[in-house]
Amino acid sequence: MKSTVRKICQSCKIEKSLSDFHRNKTKPDGHNGICKVCQAEVDKINRQKQGA
Ligand SMILES: [Zn+2]
Repeated sequence: MKSTVRKICQSCKIEKSLSDFHRNKTKPDGHNGICKVCQAEVDKINRQKQGA
């Protein structure tokens, strides 16, 4: 039986395993609230903002 911890991404609202979230020591569970896919989107947008 797998004991994979799952959580719901705060951005896309899809339940994923913790391995789909970047680690973040500042968060209570040690992982970001949004998944890697959504984080990549946020990073992309932030980069565009900074470049503009
Ligand atoms: Zn997501």
